[in-house]
Amino acid sequence: QKFVYSFTEGNKDLKDLLGGKGANLAEMTNLGLPVPPGFTITTDACKVFLETGTEPGSLNEEITGHLVALEGQMGKRLGQADDPLLVSVRSGAKFSMPGMMDTVLNIGLSDASVTGLAAQSGNERFAWDSYRRLVQMFGKTVLGVDGELFEEALEEARHAKGTANDLDLTAADLESLVATFKAIVLRETGREFPQDPREQLDLAIHAVFHSWNGDRARLYRRQERIPNDLGTAVNVCSMVFGNLGEDSGTGVAFTRDPSTGTQGVYGDYLQNAQGEDVVAGIRNTLPLADLEQLDKKSYDELMTIMHTLENHYRDLCDIEFTIERGKLWMLQTRVGKRTAAAAFRIAVQLVDQGLIDLDEALHRVTGGQLAQLMFPRFAPTSETKPVAYGIAASPGAAVGKVVFDSYTAVKWSRSGEQVILVRRETNPDDLEGMIAAEGILTSRGGKTSHAAVVARGMGKTCVCGAEELEVDTKNRKFTTADGQVVHEGDVVSIDGANGKVYLGEVPVLPSPVVEYFEGTIHAGADVQGGLVQAVHRLMSHADGRRRLAVRANADNAEDANRARRYGAQGIGLCRTEHMFLGEERRKEVEHLILADNDKDRETALSSLLPLQKGDFLELFQSMDGLPVTVRLLDPPLHEFLPDITELSVRVALAEARKDPNENDLRLLQAVHRLHEANPMLGLRGVRLGLVIPGLFGMQVRAIAEAAAERKLAGGDPRPEVMIPLVGTVQELELVRDECERVLAEVAASTGVSLDIKLGTMIELPRAAVTAGQIAEAADFFSFGTNDLTQTVWGFSRDDVEASFFTAYLEKGIFGVSPFETIDRDGVGALVKNAAQAGRATRPDLKLGVCGEHGGDPDSVHFFHEVGLDYVSCSPFRIPVARLEAGRAAI
Ligand code: PEP
Ligand code: MG
Repeated sequence: QKFVYSFTEGNKDLKDLLGGKGANLAEMTNLGLPVPPGFTITTDACKVFLETGTEPGSLNEEITGHLVALEGQMGKRLGQADDPLLVSVRSGAKFSMPGMMDTVLNIGLSDASVTGLAAQSGNERFAWDSYRRLVQMFGKTVLGVDGELFEEALEEARHAKGTANDLDLTAADLESLVATFKAIVLRETGREFPQDPREQLDLAIHAVFHSWNGDRARLYRRQERIPNDLGTAVNVCSMVFGNLGEDSGTGVAFTRDPSTGTQGVYGDYLQNAQGEDVVAGIRNTLPLADLEQLDKKSYDELMTIMHTLENHYRDLCDIEFTIERGKLWMLQTRVGKRTAAAAFRIAVQLVDQGLIDLDEALHRVTGGQLAQLMFPRFAPTSETKPVAYGIAASPGAAVGKVVFDSYTAVKWSRSGEQVILVRRETNPDDLEGMIAAEGILTSRGGKTSHAAVVARGMGKTCVCGAEELEVDTKNRKFTTADGQVVHEGDVVSIDGANGKVYLGEVPVLPSPVVEYFEGTIHAGADVQGGLVQAVHRLMSHADGRRRLAVRANADNAEDANRARRYGAQGIGLCRTEHMFLGEERRKEVEHLILADNDKDRETALSSLLPLQKGDFLELFQSMDGLPVTVRLLDPPLHEFLPDITELSVRVALAEARKDPNENDLRLLQAVHRLHEANPMLGLRGVRLGLVIPGLFGMQVRAIAEAAAERKLAGGDPRPEVMIPLVGTVQELELVRDECERVLAEVAASTGVSLDIKLGTMIELPRAAVTAGQIAEAADFFSFGTNDLTQTVWGFSRDDVEASFFTAYLEKGIFGVSPFETIDRDGVGALVKNAAQAGRATRPDLKLGVCGEHGGDPDSVHFFHEVGLDYVSCSPFRIPVARLEAGRAAI
C-alpha cells in the first residue's frame, strides 16, 4: 500500500485519499499552475496511526524517499545549515474542517539554519521572523503550549519598542523573541524545542494526525454531520515566503463574491506577511484590487489563473496565494463555501454561461440553503441608525444579547437566550460559542477571517471587521465610535447582508423568497441580484424532475391555503384533535368523556358533528381537487381534561369550603380513571375508536357529509380517511366496517356517491412487520415516523431531546437526532420492508410519510429511494421538500 503521493501524482477526484487540499494541490500542479513542489501523506496513513497508535511500517521510508526527491528538485536539504530547505505541514481532510490543526510553517529552521537562511535571503530580519513563527506555531499546535503565552511575549516585545506593529521589530528584537519563545517551550513542556529538522517534520505530521480527534474537530464534524472515521491527509510543501519584504505578500481570493455570487475581484491581500496573518485577521488587509497597483504582473497572472480555475472546476473557487519577491505561487484552492443566496445565484449563472446544465445546478443547491433564504430580514426604518458598519460576512438578521466569550454564549443560549457573540476576532476556540450564538460580530478581520469563513459555513449571521467598535472582552463591554458603551446582556441587532450594527432590537421583514412563494413577488422580479429568479428556475426544474409528490400537514384553512401557495399537492395529514381545542369544543369532548350512558354520549357526539363538518368544509374548499387525508382522533382523551393536580386542588379547596362542585367531582373521577403511566402507549389512536362507540363514526360522517355538500355545490372534494396507531389488521378491519357503513348511509341520505379511500398509519413496529397483512384492509399507508421512531428506539419523543440526547450526540452515538433525520438502518429499514410487503399484497397501495421527517432534506432522499409516492410536511417546509425531492431524482 502506498501512503505518500507527490503533488504530480494525484488529482482532484482523490479527496478520500489525499484530502481536499492535497487533491486540489495535485490538480493545480497538473494544470501547470505555479504550485511549490511537495507531497501528501494519505488519510489511510492517518487511520492506521489513530487505530494502532503508530505509523504504518513503511511510512517513514516513503516519506524519506519523497523528501530526498524534493531536496533533489529544490537543490537543498531540509534544514541544511547554510541554505535550508523549509517546508510547511498542513492538515487536509476530505471536508475542510476549521477545528483541526491547519498549518505549521518554516519547518527545518533551527539555531544553525536560521543564519543560513539569513545569508541566503540577504535579510536577517526575515530569517528571525520566520524562526519565531516556527517556534510559536510548533509550540502551540504540535507541543500543545497555550498560544496566549507566545502572544503575550510578542505583545511585550512590541510594547518595549513602543509600537503596535510587528514590522517595527528588528532582527535583534526577533532574535531575542526566539530565545523567549524557546524558554516558554522548555518551561511548559519540559523539553527543548527540537533542533533536528526531520524530528520537527515527524512530530508535526503526528500532530496533524492527532488533531483529527481534537475536541473542536469532533464538535465541528457533529455539527456538519461529517463521519468520524475519514481521517485527515497531511500536506508537506516547500516553503515560499510572503514576508521577504514589500515585494512579497500573501492573500486569499474568490473567483466570485461568496456572499452574492457577483463576478469580480474579491479577496484580501497583505504585504510582507505569511498566510496565517490574513486568515487570523491579525492585521487589516488590503482589498485584492489594490494588488494591481502594487504588482501588476502578479495581479494579471492571478486573474488569469482564477479564470482558469473557475472554468476548470466549473464553480466558484477560493484560493490562497503568496507572492515571493514578485513571483506568484498558488498554495491552495477549493470549491469555495458560499452563502445560500450566492449558491442559488451562482448555480444559474453557471448554467447561463454554459458551464453546467440545470441538473448539475440543482445538485449544487440544498434544501438547507433554501430554508436559510426563507428567514426574515431587518426592516429598514428611518429612525434606526447603525452605530457601526462592518463587513457583510454572512447574511441574515440576528438580534440578541451581547456576550463576549464562548462559554457565556453557550451558557446563555442553553437557558433560552438569543445571544450575539462579540469578539475582536475569533479563533477555533470560539467554535462552540459561534454555534450557540444567533450571530457573530467582530471588530477585526475581513471576509476571509476565521469568523467570516466559519459563520458562512454554518449559515450563521456574521458582521466582521467593524473597526469603529472598541471591543474590551476583559471588561465585557464594547464602545461605539460616538462613545456609547454596550455591556454584556445589552441587546444588539446585526445585519449580515450589509454589515450594519444597531443597538437594541430592530424589527424584521419577511424574505423575498418567502414573498415569492406567497405569490406577492413575481417569479421574474429582479430582487436581490436575481435571487428570486434563480430560486424560481431551480424550483421549477426540481418540480419537473421529482417523482415524489409533496403534501402538507395542515388542519385549518389558513395553513392549507399557505400550503397550496407553496406548492403542496394535497394534505397528507390533517390532525383532527387540533379541531377539538378551544373552550367550546373542549367542553363537548368533556361531555363525551363523562357520558356514562348511550344517550348522553350520542348527545355529545351530535353536538361535535356540525363543528367537525364545518372544519372539513373549509379544508376541502381550500384543497379543492387535491387529496386531503383526514386522520381520525389520535391522542389520549385525558389531554382534553383539566390537569390532575389543578383539579385536585380545586376540589379539595371546594370541600374545605364545604361547597363541593358536582361536575368537578365527576371530572376528577374521570381524570383518575383515564390517568395512564405511559399515555403514549395507552388508550389512543385506533384504540379510542374501538372503545368509544360512535366516535370514529361521527368523524367519518362529518367528513362524508362535508364532501357531499361540497360536491353538490360544484366542488371537487377528495377526502381520504386515515386510522392512526394500528398494530394489527384486525383493528383496522373493525374500524373499516364501521366507516363503510357510515359512508353508505351518507351516500344514501345525500344521494351523492362518494369514493373515499380508507387507509392507515404505519407507526408501530408491529404494523411495519405485519404490513403485508395490514395492506389487505388498507387503501393506503402513511408512515408516522414520529411514533415509529419513538417505539422502535423506545425513546419518549416528548422527553429525550431535553434529557439525554445532548450526551448521545456528544458521544457520537448518532450525529443527529433520529426524530429529525430518519434513522435509515433501524426505523428506515422497517419503512422499506413495510413498503415492499404492502405493495406485494396490493400493488396499487399508495405510500406516503407524514412524520416530521417528511420535510427533512436527508430523509426526503431516503423516502425517494424506498419508493414512497409522497412526503407530507409542515407548510413552511414544502419548498424544501420539493427541492430535495427534485435533487433526489437526478
Ligand atoms: C407520527 O407519529 O409520525 C405522526 C405523523 O403522528 P403524530 O405526530 O400526530 O403522532
Ligand atoms: Mg403518530
